[in-house]
Amino acid sequence: MSADTVIANLRALGARTSDAHGAQRLAWSSVWRGARRWLDDLLAEEGLRAESDIAGNNWITVPGARPDTLIIGGHLDSVPNGGWLDGTLGVLAGIEALRRFKGTTPPVTLAVVDFADEEGARFSRSLLGSSAASGSLVPDSVRGLVDRQGVRLAEALAENGVDLDRMPEARRALDHRHPRAYLELHIEQGPVLETMGRSTGAVIGTYGVERHLLRFTGQAAHSGSTPIAMRRDAFLAAAETALACREIARRREMVCTVGTVSVEPGIVTAIPGVCEIALDQRALEPDTLSQALADAHEGAARACAANGVTVTWRRLWRIDPCRFDPRLVDLCADAVRETTGHAPRLPSGPLHDAVEMARVMPAVMMFASSTNGLSHCKEEDTPDVDLRVTIDAFLRLVDKTVAAVAADS
Ligand SMILES: [Zn+2]
Repeated sequence: MSADTVIANLRALGARTSDAHGAQRLAWSSVWRGARRWLDDLLAEEGLRAESDIAGNNWITVPGARPDTLIIGGHLDSVPNGGWLDGTLGVLAGIEALRRFKGTTPPVTLAVVDFADEEGARFSRSLLGSSAASGSLVPDSVRGLVDRQGVRLAEALAENGVDLDRMPEARRALDHRHPRAYLELHIEQGPVLETMGRSTGAVIGTYGVERHLLRFTGQAAHSGSTPIAMRRDAFLAAAETALACREIARRREMVCTVGTVSVEPGIVTAIPGVCEIALDQRALEPDTLSQALADAHEGAARACAANGVTVTWRRLWRIDPCRFDPRLVDLCADAVRETTGHAPRLPSGPLHDAVEMARVMPAVMMFASSTNGLSHCKEEDTPDVDLRVTIDAFLRLVDKTVAAVAADS
């Protein structure tokens, strides 16, 4: 019954905030603010209310017999042309969890948080609100960010009543909540559960990421007059590096992607003298990630030697792998098994707000399967039958975690 309510609410929100191309709840935009107003109305019907923290995260709290707090997270913001489940599933399943305690005093306090700007789709900085809450956000590191229209992050924040320099104060506010455990329900955004024939699974952690820009420099020359043996083709060195990185990923059972490539001068009658690629490597074990990076350096050096090219590396971004709390992972797997008869455990390739919360308190995530593994697009979906059991399993996990936090406190 309650899972159906969550699904109906998800559809209503999706219908209200999507166009023919998908969901348009871009953080700090009017559609996103509209999504939050819609949630306010839904909360009012249940006698609940959202409060913003200084970083623009919205909190809905049900006080319990003790101040120790179980936090359930998600995000209403989406990428442009996004789906109806990414982020929203966590928020609306969380609201349902609160609703089930209506008229009672739970043994511990429960809070749902709708994090601001999880996606980073506009300013290329993901997990903005949750990193403020965890205390890891350094305002100076994002101060220079501008969107495609040339609007500065600080201006977009100010339009929404958020002062960039005060965002780190959100950490102290979080500490005042006595945070004891964090749960997040999310769609998988990949094909693993669907391929296994499973509706839902426990997430053991998220991949760490090493992201670099590689600039290969050779010599531009005429494509007609330069013999193959005499070329210093920067693109070919980059291409061989990309292939080497795929082999590294296969060998080390991780993933890597070259997602951008640009060549100069970029005309069909000239050998590329310069080529830039962006390399993204991800692994669940810190050692695997650092060894894969060392291997990639070696692979690039070999490709350069073979092509008479040089390369420079610039780190764009990195984050350590995050292992979720073993005890909560076990509780999550128990809830999944008791609901579905199976308990798959899997890592997450994408990052989530749970990674930031795991810096502050024990955290775990549960995944719902994704149809065809698709997400960040309007085709994003999970069959209703799978959503229903996933939400049931999540509500079961909430009950188990309430009991665990109460027993500890
Ligand atoms: Zn998400």
